[in-house]
Amino acid sequence: MQGKITNYTKQRYITYGVIAVLALILPFVRINGNHFFLLSFDHKKLDLLFVSFSTQELFLMPFVLIGLFLTIFFVTTLAGRIWCAWACPQTIFRVIYRDLIQTKLLKIRKNIKDKQKEYPGNMFKKILAVLIFYVLSLIATSNLLWYFVPPEDFFLYLQNPAEHLLLLGILFCASLFLTFDVVYIQERFCVYVCPYARIQSVMFDHDTVQVVYDEKRGGVIFDGKTKLHKKPPQGECIGCEACVTVCPTHIDIRQGMQLDCINCLECADACSVVQNKLNRPSLIQWTSSQSINTGRKVKYFRFRTVAYLVVLAVVFIALLTMTTKKENMLLNINRSTELYNINKKIDGSLEISNSYVFLFQNTDNKAHEYYFEATVKDSNEKLEILRPKKAFKLEAGEQAKQIVVLKANSELANDDSKDTILHITIKAYANDDKENISVLRESIFVYPKQTIIKEKLGE
Ligand code: SF4
Ligand code: SF4
Repeated sequence: MQGKITNYTKQRYITYGVIAVLALILPFVRINGNHFFLLSFDHKKLDLLFVSFSTQELFLMPFVLIGLFLTIFFVTTLAGRIWCAWACPQTIFRVIYRDLIQTKLLKIRKNIKDKQKEYPGNMFKKILAVLIFYVLSLIATSNLLWYFVPPEDFFLYLQNPAEHLLLLGILFCASLFLTFDVVYIQERFCVYVCPYARIQSVMFDHDTVQVVYDEKRGGVIFDGKTKLHKKPPQGECIGCEACVTVCPTHIDIRQGMQLDCINCLECADACSVVQNKLNRPSLIQWTSSQSINTGRKVKYFRFRTVAYLVVLAVVFIALLTMTTKKENMLLNINRSTELYNINKKIDGSLEISNSYVFLFQNTDNKAHEYYFEATVKDSNEKLEILRPKKAFKLEAGEQAKQIVVLKANSELANDDSKDTILHITIKAYANDDKENISVLRESIFVYPKQTIIKEKLGE
């Protein structure tokens, strides 16, 4: 086998850059006024994949959460803790603070390759490092808040802080906590606090890709927790411990898979430099334990990964179908408790009506005027709308209750013994866009029995 210097660390930095740019830009991107993701409590709406949903349509959220959890299960089974090292904000912020600010910028730490050593002294630089990170954490926390308070509102609110103390409180407390976490808690968060670290091991199997020390090549260093040798009597490991000093969680990967390992692969890079000088590949590989033991390629497609993929595809299709079938207005109909109302008019005729409460909501991004029509299902006979008499306007996202009175224009039933329940269809729409903004709802119209009608008529 030929030696090769790996540079996963550089690849991770590039990935961090892409994630940071995406996370910063996405809240500002709007299509038809909708965001990629926005859960706004102010506007009572959820924007998902540039489609807007009102809070009444939050039945989508379970699908989003199921999709999220399934993705985590799938990715963890396939590639172990790839999230931890390549995308987790905790790791990204630790790299920014420790490797960029402390080491490269302020030279408090002497070497990125030695993450074990703490450097005493120079209090001024240490405080400066914390202050620089606090400014960054304010930006990062604001960035997170933009997924709940859209940037167009966020910056307006900041101009009027007295009226938005809650937002400011969240911003300052969260950024302070982030700074405390990154500066003081450090990788202990990954080891002792993060729930993902605790559950991921049950999702692993022998084919899961992870960071593995090749004991067959390198030689046995540990017997369980007991360190037997600094350098094994047989094997290619030269005992330089470059893999140990570079480890941000302060572990020795030659001891086997550990909960503390965030899969950053810095040990693999470090060993690849050492072994390359001896024309051998790194003793620490990003592969599966099965592959190390058998020498076979990693088996990516296996029952568990394929099963997760299938279920994920089903959830994704369901979500996509629901977003494309989304209604651009909402309408809930409740009948009043009164069965019907009979009015005798001056000319002696009867006016038979039923009352309802319609709850309209404009879920579109602009104002519309709404109205509706009501039809008896079997006869296609139109019911007259006594109230409201004309269309009404709703601003974007606005809800409004309307008392609705529908009147029968002719004799709809002729039953002597009991009231007749007629099924009706309500078609509500926006006057300016009937084709795209309309909904159909079903309800009932109760028509009184003939004996009551005759009694009212005085027959
Ligand atoms: S860097 Fe490689 S050679 Fe050096 S101690 Fe670690 S595993 Fe052994
Ligand atoms: S053991 Fe290696 S991969 Fe795991 S955290 Fe330490 S340096 Fe990163």
